[in-house]
Amino acid sequence: MVDVAKLVDVWPASVTFGDELLGRLDAATREQFGVVRRPYGPGEQLAHNLMITAARQLGLAVETDAAGNLLMTLEGADKSLPRLLAGSHLDSVPAGGNFDGAAGVVAGLVAVHALRAGGITPRAGLTVIATRAEEGSSWFKGQHKSHFGSRAALGQLDRTEMARARTLEGDQSLFDVMVGAGFSPEQIDFSEPLLDRSAYRGFVEIHIEQGPILVEKDLPVGVVTGIRGNLRLRNARVIGDEAHSGAVPAEYRRDALLAAVELVAAVEAQWQRWLEAGRDVVCTFGRFGTVPERHSLTKVPGEVRFSLDIRSEEAALLDEAAAFVQAEADRIGSARSVGFILGPFDRAPPALMTPALVEQLIEHAETLGIPFCRLASGGGHDSANFVAAKWPTAMIFVRNPNGSHNPDEAMAIEDFAFGVRLLTALVLDA
Ligand SMILES: [Zn+2]
Repeated sequence: MVDVAKLVDVWPASVTFGDELLGRLDAATREQFGVVRRPYGPGEQLAHNLMITAARQLGLAVETDAAGNLLMTLEGADKSLPRLLAGSHLDSVPAGGNFDGAAGVVAGLVAVHALRAGGITPRAGLTVIATRAEEGSSWFKGQHKSHFGSRAALGQLDRTEMARARTLEGDQSLFDVMVGAGFSPEQIDFSEPLLDRSAYRGFVEIHIEQGPILVEKDLPVGVVTGIRGNLRLRNARVIGDEAHSGAVPAEYRRDALLAAVELVAAVEAQWQRWLEAGRDVVCTFGRFGTVPERHSLTKVPGEVRFSLDIRSEEAALLDEAAAFVQAEADRIGSARSVGFILGPFDRAPPALMTPALVEQLIEHAETLGIPFCRLASGGGHDSANFVAAKWPTAMIFVRNPNGSHNPDEAMAIEDFAFGVRLLTALVLDA
C-alpha cells in the first residue's frame, strides 16, 4: 500500500501542471461573453485536443470511443485488476465558465502527473475520461435526457433519442451532429455499453460545486452523498374567469392568480415543514405569470401559467410532494372555483452515491487533514448515469464562489489540489 502523503514533495509541480492546463483551456475556448465549448463543436474539440496532448506527455494510452468520449489510461502494476475511472465532461453551456466539467478531467491528469513525478505505479490503474455533450440540454431541443456522451458509454442512449434531440440552431439531429464530428453513432446502441464494465472498479467525478454551501462553510471540498432527483410540472395552468376589475365584487370572482399564489404559499409552507423535519428538499416556481396577450391593469386574471421544480435526495419525498401538490391544487381549486391543469409530473429519480466509496473518501480526508463536509448535489451530473448503471460511484465537489453556468465560475487552485489529493488517495487504495 502506497501512502499518498509520500507525494507531498511533488504536489506543487503537479498542481502547477494542472493550473497551466486549465489556463490554456480558458485561453483556447473563451469568446466575447464567456467560454464556449458546444457539444461536438470546435470549442469542445479544442478542449479534447489539449487533454490528448497532455495525456501523451504523461505517457498515457489514449482512445476515443464511438461517441467521442476520450479515455486516457495509466496502467497499474497489476493489469488484471480493474481500474478506477475518473473524469467529467469538457463541453460548456453557451457563455459558460472554464471549470464546470473540465476541472474533473484535469484533476485526473494531475493525479497521474503526481504519481509519475513521485515514481509511483499504483497497483490498479487509472483511466481518465472526458465525456462528450453533458450540457446537451442547453444546445439541443426535442425530447431527450442530455448527458449524451456518458449515457452512450453506459448503454443508455438509443437511436430514437439521437434522432429526437435536435440542435437549437440549425435543427440537426444528434446522430448527424456526431457523424459530422467524425464519430460513429451507428455503433451506439441501447443496453450495449461502450465501456467495458468489468475493466473498472468504479467512477469518481470531481466537479465544482454549483451552490454556495462550501463558500458559506469555508471549506475547500465536499464529499457528495447523492444527486437530487426532481419532480417537475413543466406547463401547469390555473383557469379562472376574466372579469372587470372595478365592477365584479370579490365573491363573484374566479381569480386565477390569487389561486396560483395560494398554491405557491402552500408549497413554501410545506417546504419549511420538510426542512424542520431534517429532510433534503428545494422548491422553485421558475416561470409564473398571467398571459401577456390578454392580461391588463383592469382585468381580473383569468389564467396563470407556471412551472414547478422540486428536488430532493429522497425518492419518497418526491412522491409525497406530488401527492401534496395535487391535493392542494384540488382544495384551492374547489374553494376558489378555478381549475388547476397541472399536466404530467415529470420525474427523475435521485442518484445516491455508493456509501462505501463515500466513506473511503471521508476517511482519506480525515487522514490527510483535508477540511470537508458531506453535501447533496443539486445539479445533474454524468455521475448520476453511472449510478443508474449500478457502477460504484463517488463525487467530490470543489468550492466555487461564483456559481456555475456563467463566465465567472471561479476555483482556487489550492482547493482543487485538495480534491485531487482525495482522488489520488482513492487510486492508491486498490
Ligand atoms: Zn458539469
